[in-house]
Amino acid sequence: MTGGAGLADEAAVEQTIVLLRAAELGLPAVGDDGRELAALLRSVMGGGPPGPAPVASSAPAPAAPGALAAVLRGWAAAMEVPVTAFRRDRRAVLRGDAAGVRLCPRRLLRAAVPRLRALGALPHEHRLSVVWTRDTPSVTFPVRIPGWSAVALPDRPAPLCAQYVHHELGHVMELAGRPPGLPLARRWRRPPEVAEWGALVVEALGRCPAWLAALDVPPDTARRIADHCRWEDRYTRALTALILRCAARTGRLETEVAEASCGLLDPEHVRQETLRAGYWSAIAEGRRLADRTAAEFTVVWGERWWDRRESWQELHERLAADGHPG
Ligand SMILES: [Zn+2]
Repeated sequence: MTGGAGLADEAAVEQTIVLLRAAELGLPAVGDDGRELAALLRSVMGGGPPGPAPVASSAPAPAAPGALAAVLRGWAAAMEVPVTAFRRDRRAVLRGDAAGVRLCPRRLLRAAVPRLRALGALPHEHRLSVVWTRDTPSVTFPVRIPGWSAVALPDRPAPLCAQYVHHELGHVMELAGRPPGLPLARRWRRPPEVAEWGALVVEALGRCPAWLAALDVPPDTARRIADHCRWEDRYTRALTALILRCAARTGRLETEVAEASCGLLDPEHVRQETLRAGYWSAIAEGRRLADRTAAEFTVVWGERWWDRRESWQELHERLAADGHPG
């Protein structure tokens, strides 16, 4: 695309993508008008939004009765807090306020980016703009300029930042691998489960004490943060299964939530999340792909597969092969 008209079109596409992505993620900055506009845009686009779209509906993952409650009880015991802490302030438990350690997201990002660049996971030439927020969900936005990504991250020090900082860097890695010559709308149109696949492979590094220690996190802190993030991962897997199950059986939502969480989870929270079942469906499929990738890489390169440039090269090739937008 060349000329002023092309650039204006690209700017409009960028604004649309940002709105759709923010609406899809349920960011609080999107008000009722924004959500209405996002729904209207989706309805007139016909072929599906350029942002994360619902994946083809697959059978909802099984959510075993009591699965979520078992995770929450195990997690509370590991953290030595009463399980009711979760009902009192779910976000504080997820962040790891009771974990007894802190991790500064800014410092983590400053350590992780050069490490990922040195390993070939992130291209040296790919630029990052970071916006630090207060307690809003982390998100990676596209920018019109190829070779550039924008990331919004909460800046509160918390053990959970090991998960979301790495998750967003995974999105940046995947975005960086998309063909740069395409117009933005086509560059951005990629199956959301492929985008989440890349993000979730990198996210898993936040649960790996050896990786965190390699980023100069003190070994004992790294171990405790990885422990916390592993519990959070178990929780999110069980929650994802429950959301997808409830989305397919909305009439049974209260019963499903009560059975899965033994009353520890607010059904309204799950009801809200079923409204973006397409996002959770992409997460579930992306996680399945990421788990398989890590298992295969471990067979080939061992537990520290992430320390090998060949593994990242292989991941880039797999992502490009399965999610090529052209
Ligand atoms: Zn993601």
